[in-house]
Amino acid sequence: MSALPSIFVSHGAPTLVVDRVPTRDFLLGLGPKLPRPRAVLCVSAHWDTEAPRLTGGPQPSTMYDFYGFPDELYEMTYPAPGDPALAERAAGLIRAAGMRADVDGRRGLDHGAWVPLKLMWPQADVPVVQLSVQSRLSPEHHLALGRAIAPLRDEGVLILASGNATHNLRDVFNHDILEGPTPYAKDFADWLTGRVLAGDEPALANYLARGPEARRNHPSPDHYVPLLVAAGAGGGKAEILHDGYTYGVLSMAAYAWN
Ligand code: ZN
Repeated sequence: MSALPSIFVSHGAPTLVVDRVPTRDFLLGLGPKLPRPRAVLCVSAHWDTEAPRLTGGPQPSTMYDFYGFPDELYEMTYPAPGDPALAERAAGLIRAAGMRADVDGRRGLDHGAWVPLKLMWPQADVPVVQLSVQSRLSPEHHLALGRAIAPLRDEGVLILASGNATHNLRDVFNHDILEGPTPYAKDFADWLTGRVLAGDEPALANYLARGPEARRNHPSPDHYVPLLVAAGAGGGKAEILHDGYTYGVLSMAAYAWN
């Protein structure tokens, strides 16, 4: 079996699952286009812990970790099975790379995971394990975390990292959902795409110094670091799968390391 890709997607607002925007169409088309994985290891920006944690339950619940959104979002579920053996296998790989890893039997899937997954595999028939990020730790830690789980790609597991290529949430409210890119967001997203396509891990890790208006685009690192996990698991040059914006300031770029 050839290796499955490591993928980074931008998940935008929780309403992406129902919004009529090109990124939703992209994600709807992406699942069927990919080789069918045995399971997905999903790294979400919305699970931020001190050390790597993995969902270990056989049936993770759907979490509604957002407030003030339309009722229909709170009625959606994503009942994909978990994969406790995969959680243990991933934890073992992470520990073997010198990091701590804990398996959490109670944690469900947050919207950073289930929103893209529900679009990609609406039948919820691909088992999912979620892996947390550690936004207080360094970019290099997240590259190393990705490298640690890379062997899973040869075991039928798709790595799906979910964050946002740019993520100034405060500025979202100043723009319409279908607005074109704001210059400061486009400058960073274009830089990011260039470095991702070049496989330039040192630049990706050093994004705060090297990326244009990096701090304005990522006031906190939580939505950026999933990309580093995907890059670490991908190892090398990527391709761009999708380019677009919501609210003018959220680059919805997606990349694949094949
Ligand atoms: Zn988010």
